Amino acid sequence: MIKIEHLTKYYGQKLAVDDISFSVEPGEVVGFLGPNGAGKSTTMNMLTGYLSSTSGKCSIDGIDILENPSEAKRLIGFLPEQPPLYYDMTTREYLSFIYDLKRCTLNRREHIDEIIDIMGLGEMEKRLINQLSKGFKQRVGIAGALVSNPKILIFDEPTIGLDPRQIIEIRDLIRTLSKDHTIILSTHILPEVQAVCDRILIIDRGRLIADEKTENINSLAAENRKFTIRILGPKGEVSTFLRKTEGAAKVEFLSSGSDGSSLFMVQCKKGFDLRRTLFYALAEKRWPILELSNVGASLEDVFIALTK
Ligand code: ADP
Repeated sequence: MIKIEHLTKYYGQKLAVDDISFSVEPGEVVGFLGPNGAGKSTTMNMLTGYLSSTSGKCSIDGIDILENPSEAKRLIGFLPEQPPLYYDMTTREYLSFIYDLKRCTLNRREHIDEIIDIMGLGEMEKRLINQLSKGFKQRVGIAGALVSNPKILIFDEPTIGLDPRQIIEIRDLIRTLSKDHTIILSTHILPEVQAVCDRILIIDRGRLIADEKTENINSLAAENRKFTIRILGPKGEVSTFLRKTEGAAKVEFLSSGSDGSSLFMVQCKKGFDLRRTLFYALAEKRWPILELSNVGASLEDVFIALTK
């Protein structure tokens, strides 16, 4: 459905995207993950025909985006990092404007009603976009991407700048849309792709360094298990004991509790899971564990695992 072959982009002397190739099958939800400056937006902008490539090809359903841009673009709904909203229009006016712009042929009223309904914009349809919260503005941006009834949706950093509740709402909406769309979600947030994507592509300094199913990335990141543990016992002795435990790669003291407990972060060496070991060893010492929780792998952990 989407095919990218040897895509490369130079900005002057600066190589921003370096010989990237991948394809996306119908119905897949693919995360495009990488730190800021990795080349995600540049790739998304080339894929959607907003930017020309220095070399390489992008095709959508067999249609080359540069040879036949209007036809290829009709298949894609794109939410750029900065959605192009008109702040002095109401939500409905804006969607109607996009309807004309995209030369949509579906019944205008019914189609826009349906999009407003899917995006939960009913109460906001007569409000000026300028007066909407950042979360609702983002929903209007996604609604705009849905107007041409595209099979493919491309989201560039859709939750950036949103508060935690709005982030959850936008992720839920993307999950709902994934039932009948092929989706590429570009982000620098690992839990975001883990929450919604089947497959993860990782880009670093313009190069694709991984193309894996989400569960494989999870297990890759889980090789070095990390958890926080709150222990009631003499801080110095507990700390020394943890550091000396076989299989502990790193132990970090985080804080003291008012009950005399201490909170530590423990990172295990590859192949070790110290949760059980510490349960028995600390019980023997009569230093009770008051809490223990796994810390999800960060994007940095995945990078270290992939690039070592
Ligand atoms: P990401 O979306 O992953 O944050 P970008 O695609 O925006 O990364 O940028 C990739 C690299 O290209 C960065 O080093 C960035 O500074 C550079 N870059 C992006 N846009 C331009 C531009 N218009 N001119 C010059 N360099 C750019």
